[in-house]
Amino acid sequence: MLYQRSSSLFKEAEKVIPGGVNSPVRAFGAVGGTPIFAKSAKGAYIQDEDGNQYIDYINSWGPMILGHAFEPVVNAVIEKAKQGTSFGMPTAIETEIAQLATSMVPNIDKIRFVNSGTEACMSAVRLARGYTKKDKIIKFAGCYHGHSDSFLIAAGSGAITFGTPNSPGVTQGTAKDTLLATYNDIVNVRQLLEANKGEIACIIIEPVAGNMGCIPPKNDFLKKLRAVCDEHDVLLIFDEVMTGFRLAPGGAQELYNVDADIVCFGKVIGGGLPVGAFAARNDIMDYLAPNGPVYQAGTLSGNPLAMAAGLAMLQHLDKDRTVFTRLAEKTEYLHKGIATALQANNIEHTINRMGSMISIHFEAHEVVDFETAAKANNERFKRFFHGMLKEGIYIAPSAFETWFISDALSYEDLDATIAAVDTVCKTL
Ligand code: PMP
Repeated sequence: MLYQRSSSLFKEAEKVIPGGVNSPVRAFGAVGGTPIFAKSAKGAYIQDEDGNQYIDYINSWGPMILGHAFEPVVNAVIEKAKQGTSFGMPTAIETEIAQLATSMVPNIDKIRFVNSGTEACMSAVRLARGYTKKDKIIKFAGCYHGHSDSFLIAAGSGAITFGTPNSPGVTQGTAKDTLLATYNDIVNVRQLLEANKGEIACIIIEPVAGNMGCIPPKNDFLKKLRAVCDEHDVLLIFDEVMTGFRLAPGGAQELYNVDADIVCFGKVIGGGLPVGAFAARNDIMDYLAPNGPVYQAGTLSGNPLAMAAGLAMLQHLDKDRTVFTRLAEKTEYLHKGIATALQANNIEHTINRMGSMISIHFEAHEVVDFETAAKANNERFKRFFHGMLKEGIYIAPSAFETWFISDALSYEDLDATIAAVDTVCKTL
């Protein structure tokens, strides 16, 4: 494949955009090479600026669960745009999508729309702090909740010491209020809670982690978390930016039958437009401005085009709930095919999967947390990524990302992908 036009577009972009991209992972920094510029996409396929076509497993990092340019979503946006693109006044469609979202997701009464997953998680934590009148939070190493300061924290030297900033610009003052726990390790969470008794406002978690590859919760971890949160009077926040409206109509809460106190959304809920949201039961949500003291706002929040896209997407998922089982079946088929190809070629690996999220770690042992995910063979992943690209398969340019399966993928696409894995294995 030739990437001439992508290369020259990237050179131009680098002159006026830091690193040539508006979000770092797009720059191929983790895998080497220069990024491919997208031109258009339809269904399961994406076309780049050089005319190459790929089977897409990123799907805009999650939103495109029904494939690219899904017609009901595109039409809803076009029709809405004709009536004006933003008003800064309440609109009927905001209530319509809020009614639908709260009817699909268990345990939430009210939802507030924002513009990104970052905003949703940042606001959820502020709300939790305001509601509990406590300052510290616990997050899990390897979980990503967007780029707000409280989340850009690395583990301290010991399990119960303060975190440290992992980006310049994040202050020590902020870092001291974020504690890092180990995913799937309830003993570690208990230790943190005991060592900081009465000080923790909330625990925030990706109920199925997708930012260290896919790592599902093990041994009733979410139920245990719920129990320790109740014991210590701490709010449990599910960051369902990836899992919401993907793993089940009601997300991970429904799938695992565990109630969170606050739930964050992004990606699918916006149908590919910039949308995030956070939701909870009334007593928590009524703490938000203008009813309550916790401030949160947005000029473009609840934007009509974004709401039109999100509403069309949710309506479709609500109406055809078989999509969730269909997606899980496709993902299982892909899992089996890829595992067979990797085994046949003697490539050490672990494949983790939940619903329509799946990832390959080039590591023989079980991957259950950030430490075990980080042991995987990254050099092999880089070769795998570029090999797959050459075969016309676009997966995320980082070993720490999940593949997102869309319903637009046909079994022929999955077979082509499995065949590509077999071919690429010979070069690893
Ligand atoms: N939470 C999770 C679980 C995510 O995966 C992401 C983004 N990948 C975010 C939050 C942040 O969302 P955004 O990029 O829309 O700010």
